[in-house]
Amino acid sequence: MKDIAKLAVFGGQPAFAETLHVGSPNIGDRAQLMARIETMLDRRRLTNRGPYVEELEQRLAAFLGVKHCITMCNGTVALEIAIRALGLTGEVIVPSMTFIATPHALQWQEITPVFCDIDPQTMTIDPAQVRRMITPKTSGILGVHLWGRVCNTEALQEIAGEHQLALLFDAAHAFGCSRNGRMVGNFGDAEVFSFHATKFFNTFEGGAVATNNDELAARMRLMQNFGFSGLDNVIYIGTNGKMNEVSAAMGLTGLESLDEFMAVNYQHYLQYERELADIPGIALFRFEPGEQYNYQYIAVEVDANRCGLSRDAFVEILHAENVRARRYFYPGCHRMEPYRSYFPNAGMLLPATERAVERFMLLPTGTAMDSQSISRLCGLIRFIAENGSRIHVNLLHRTQEAQLEAVSIAAKPKKKITRTPRVS
Ligand SMILES: *Cc1c(COP(=O)(O)O)cnc(C)c1O
Repeated sequence: MKDIAKLAVFGGQPAFAETLHVGSPNIGDRAQLMARIETMLDRRRLTNRGPYVEELEQRLAAFLGVKHCITMCNGTVALEIAIRALGLTGEVIVPSMTFIATPHALQWQEITPVFCDIDPQTMTIDPAQVRRMITPKTSGILGVHLWGRVCNTEALQEIAGEHQLALLFDAAHAFGCSRNGRMVGNFGDAEVFSFHATKFFNTFEGGAVATNNDELAARMRLMQNFGFSGLDNVIYIGTNGKMNEVSAAMGLTGLESLDEFMAVNYQHYLQYERELADIPGIALFRFEPGEQYNYQYIAVEVDANRCGLSRDAFVEILHAENVRARRYFYPGCHRMEPYRSYFPNAGMLLPATERAVERFMLLPTGTAMDSQSISRLCGLIRFIAENGSRIHVNLLHRTQEAQLEAVSIAAKPKKKITRTPRVS
């Protein structure tokens, strides 16, 4: 592309005929999945701890190297059950830089999420800030391994130990990731995964809690099945958090292709790293060397001072080109209801979060993407960033024209307006 007037946002042809999505699902071997579903129908076991759920839990526990892995109907209910089983009350310290399900799982049980800032290097909860947020009402810390970067688990464990707090992790982004060679699933009191369709490993909808604590595992198993301990014996308050057999069949099938999903994501990540290098104002979010990651999120930071375009303008331009780049997690949980009303000034304590939610955009990856599309997308991003200031001016003119047009239509419907000349 040589001419900015050809960008789709100015009326040109979109760069991609088909829309590219962030979080397009990874699907394993279809024939295997269909065969499993046939078997499931033949044996008429659709849910309630069927053989696929049993097998999936064993395989997941072996993969994670953890004692217990309890599958759940989704990640949010898994969080709610883990929070309840840990006996959390009062206040729990949590980052605002996360998906809304994290604080909602607390607030749903009338536990106050106390938003804590992130370390801008790692995008995970900042242990020094956690310390400052502890009050007599604090019962736990809920860290989030954002985009697969694992929290500073040692520092958080130390704080939790000192203050006798529960330590839980929302590991929805970190299935298959490690810290100091240890797999996620083994940190804190428990870790919660989401196997939602948009996650790198999916069971359509689903989730799991991993823990090495026998007693906690037993309690969560009761809670996920209404508190039933035998056929007619309820010994606890519970809910319905069970995973069904068709989801478990999808999970077993996905696990067989997990290495391939990871390899594809890693190749895509390396390609983005190569092809986005040295673009003014564009920086790819990095990972620690020597650790295992799933690379399910390609997060890019846009510096408007260097490329002349805000992240929001960038996203608008990409959307016009049929690239559904996403602003994860804009505008930040503390700016969403009910938290915005409860804590109108929370942002004052969250400078790194407020900066991040304005600067990052996520780009498509996964098995639905191919290297040719990534090349074209990176070329497009380079063109946009290198011509950022001129594009910015034209976007302003476009807005002014639209406003003038609106005014002139309202005032004198017949008369033609004079247009501001475009820069190109
Ligand atoms: C997806 C996600 C969840 C919720 O998981 P569901 O399975 O969709 O309920 C929770 N936390 C984070 C960080 C997520 O990305």
